[in-house]
Amino acid sequence: MTEDFSTPYHTVIIGAGASGLMCAGSFNARKLIIDHNPRPGAKLAVSGGGKCNFSNLNISAAHYASQNKHFCKNALAAYKNTDFLKLLDENRVPWQQLPSGQLFAQNAQDIVRLLNRRAQQANTEFKLNTQALGIKKDGQGLYIVQTSRGNIKTQNLVLACGGLSFPALGASPFGVQAARALGLNIIEQSPALAGFTFPRELKQRTAPLAGNSLPVQIHCGKFSYTGPLLFTHEGISGPAVLQTSLFWNEGKSVTVNFLPGTDVLAFLREHKNSAKHFSALLAEKLAPKIAKALLAGGDVSASNATTAQLMQAAQCLNRFTFVPQGTSGWTKAEVTRGGVDTKELNPSTLQCRRHPGLFITGELVDVTGLMGGYNLQWAWSSGWAAAKALEQIF
Ligand SMILES: Cc1cc2nc3c(=O)[nH]c(=O)nc-3n(C[C@H](O)[C@H](O)[C@H](O)COP(=O)(O)OP(=O)(O)OC[C@H]3O[C@@H](n4cnc5c(N)ncnc54)[C@H](O)[C@@H]3O)c2cc1C
Repeated sequence: MTEDFSTPYHTVIIGAGASGLMCAGSFNARKLIIDHNPRPGAKLAVSGGGKCNFSNLNISAAHYASQNKHFCKNALAAYKNTDFLKLLDENRVPWQQLPSGQLFAQNAQDIVRLLNRRAQQANTEFKLNTQALGIKKDGQGLYIVQTSRGNIKTQNLVLACGGLSFPALGASPFGVQAARALGLNIIEQSPALAGFTFPRELKQRTAPLAGNSLPVQIHCGKFSYTGPLLFTHEGISGPAVLQTSLFWNEGKSVTVNFLPGTDVLAFLREHKNSAKHFSALLAEKLAPKIAKALLAGGDVSASNATTAQLMQAAQCLNRFTFVPQGTSGWTKAEVTRGGVDTKELNPSTLQCRRHPGLFITGELVDVTGLMGGYNLQWAWSSGWAAAKALEQIF
């Protein structure tokens, strides 16, 4: 049964996730927030393993991938990590800081409850179990949101419906579909902060290593990251890999140094007279089963090795280069790279240049952060920027 939504709202926000809730609670006007999930903040509630890595002490544009790397600066400067910390302190929500600079709540639910309460106090009506199906504009400049409960008229509209990652938590393609239908340009979306899958032969070779983890240095284009790598049944994952995936495109090669800090060629040359195989010689630095899998047929006795074999072994361990078959996909990727082209939006307000009264926030925008609290900080900052502009519209 459809409901009567005949009186237009000042604002309708599609998506009761991180940026939608932040936006709703940051200005006072008669507004409605809708979500097809039965509860607000579903992704937020499980973020950071249930502890919500809500921001980071070190936030800068360098931590984000976007076609326009400057776009995120205004919003990030207008609502900072310290603003969110102040909000938590004022509401006695406990948080902690890790040596890495990552900021975590004690319990993600505390943040969900705080953002809900704040939105309600700012005159926000919630309609959950309500799916947005389409957007139209009427002749009087109002937006009409077509939903599973009927059509809703509104003066302003915020698309805060996130990316495509983790469909089980409510992610849907609605945001990009609606933006496209309004004529906005979309930067192709792809799963990011995800593991890499290996090509077939390499997968077979490394599958027995699944579950083993070690510190590595990874390079992909200009991006480089040092941290843990985890072997999986499909390829590799772990923090260093997830971070790298943000800067990877199909067909691009990735290079892993499995022994950062060790010049393998120099080490093997020093031991050139040993009868031991390379994997045994390196045993104190790298688990032999990992070395064997990486070296494959190249794990030979040092004393019998040719110069070419020494160089090949060093290459395999210090500069292991491969082209990932793909990523672990939408069900495992933490975020979506790409989305609404930033050229369509004002960087200070997140308002759409071509459609006054339309705002686009959070992960739906082509701004994607590294792992470490950067994506939620973008959700807060972009949601807040839109709210401050909406506050000025009567
Ligand atoms: C498992 C996991 C853990 C994460 N942990 C962290 C972390 O610790 N730190 C960090 O910085 N980032 C983390 N992220 C990323 C972060 O959660 C997102 O970047 C952030 O939530 C994006 O905010 P958003 O408001 O744009 O979208 P979301 O928070 O995803 O909200 C979008 C909302 O829109 C709703 N929606 C979608 N389509 C429709 C429709 N058609 N009709 C109605 N409603 C709709 C969805 O149900 C959802 O509630 C994590 C992501 C995942 C998947």
